[in-house]
Amino acid sequence: MTNDIKESRNEQWREDLRRNVSAKERMKISRVKMPELDPKYRITCNEEVNMGITAEMAVQEAKRCLDCPNPQCVTGCPVGINIPKFIKNIERGAFDKAAATLKETSALPAVCGRVCPQEKQCESRCIHHKMNSEPVAIGYLERFAADHERNSGIVSRPEIAPANGIKVAVVGSGPAALSFAGDMAKMGYDVTVYEALHEIGGVLKYGIPEFRLPNSIVDHEINGLKEIGVKFEKDIIIGKTLTYDDLHEMGFKGIFVASGAGLPRFMNIPGENLNGVMSSNEYLTRINLMGAGKPDWDTPVLKGRNVAVIGGGNTAMDSVRTAKRMGAERAILVYRRSEEEMPARIEEVKHAKEEGVEFMTLHNPIEYKGDETGRVNLMRLQKMELGEPDESGRRSPVPVDGAIEEISVDLVIVSVGVSPNPLVPKSIKSLEVSKRNTIVVDNETMKSSLPDLYAGGDIVRGGATVILAMGDGRRAAKCMNEALMSNGTK
Ligand code: FAD
Ligand code: SF4
Repeated sequence: MTNDIKESRNEQWREDLRRNVSAKERMKISRVKMPELDPKYRITCNEEVNMGITAEMAVQEAKRCLDCPNPQCVTGCPVGINIPKFIKNIERGAFDKAAATLKETSALPAVCGRVCPQEKQCESRCIHHKMNSEPVAIGYLERFAADHERNSGIVSRPEIAPANGIKVAVVGSGPAALSFAGDMAKMGYDVTVYEALHEIGGVLKYGIPEFRLPNSIVDHEINGLKEIGVKFEKDIIIGKTLTYDDLHEMGFKGIFVASGAGLPRFMNIPGENLNGVMSSNEYLTRINLMGAGKPDWDTPVLKGRNVAVIGGGNTAMDSVRTAKRMGAERAILVYRRSEEEMPARIEEVKHAKEEGVEFMTLHNPIEYKGDETGRVNLMRLQKMELGEPDESGRRSPVPVDGAIEEISVDLVIVSVGVSPNPLVPKSIKSLEVSKRNTIVVDNETMKSSLPDLYAGGDIVRGGATVILAMGDGRRAAKCMNEALMSNGTK
């Protein structure tokens, strides 16, 4: 816990708030419920499901926070947001100050307020758990403060140090890249972000659907970075269009690689090459980034009546809920363990069920069969049971002898994990890469085996979360700045 976080608690206005409402009264308030679109309506469109809480609800929820002297919620936040300070600002109605507090440490609060797994991070450590009470809805409050600022039109911009003339390059434009770029620009660097695709935002744009994270929210955050001087170059593939050596020749003194883990994995079972079997990356990218399914767009996408999505993570859940919105009569989630072991966010599981997604847990596909045209029409599933915990700590799925089921399907979306994008690691000689193709870095500094190359996000972790990627970006910015300053780089 930093001294700043402790000191801010001593400010008079916070002491007054604590004195005005007792902890006992605060504990009596029930946790706010997020207003949601009706499931019958929402599966007909791409509108955001969570509608956001009102100002009254936010102030009421903020009162539940006990402003703990040693706030454990902060230790659960990978970017160390001063959570009690932003919440207490909401309680006193200073919504702009709440948003400013968030921005001290988070480049994308409106994004994180929507997609972070708070239930496993900050909220899991909230003191309310110890008193058998639901945790403070930190994620809802974060989203409220960020949205309030955006909707008010008066957006606070961070302080920017005078330009130091030092050029740094960023590879990729997902959350790790954006958070690195923001921090470096604030420190006065000349930052250029290179993105292979024709849109900025990484998975926030091409992966996570609009019904969870509208693109306009991501664009707003990107515009904020443009306003503080970050330059964005689209359609440039580092390792092909421009090499590591080219970047040096162009005068870049530091390079941050945040090229993500966009390479889909398959199960290598018979029939996976049939038409109608595809990765969730392909499915979601066609729909989210390339407009497939929208009336005036040409991008084709296969639509299924009986759609099976294989996997139990956020990507699987996003795919199966997308299939429902694309008109599937049956959208089935097939997962080899039980619901308890599913890595997807609890909220996503709840929403999927409300939307009529069928859950086939403890089942694993072993073969797909196709019709005379080569299109998948049947899936053979092995029934599973839970065995001993495996290296992930979760109980492992074990096949039940002879228990095979067959189901008619006309579209299968495979969502069983991703691997790091290999292009950048492979294109740079002498860069240390792990067996899994992740870039090896020092965990403290995010520095790779090359002195001027830092890396973070999924290219280092091999598939993690938005907030962890952002945390990596921040650490890399801090350490690259220290290294460049101590070298006397100009
Ligand atoms: P990415 O976001 O993957 O961005 C990498 C970017 O680099 C891409 O835009 C790519 O085009 C670009 N790139 C790659 N190679 C090159 C190159 N050679 N040159 C230039 N550019 C290149 N996390 C959560 O916390 N909550 C969620 O709810 C959640 N839901 C998810 C849903 C889906 C469908 C998916 C796929 C992931 C989800 N995640 C979620 C995970 C999260 O989105 C990722 O962990 C995070 O985006 C990783 O960020 P990143 O910056 O490392 O990379
Ligand atoms: Fe507030 Fe919970 Fe954090 Fe305590 S742990 S400061 S109650 S959010």
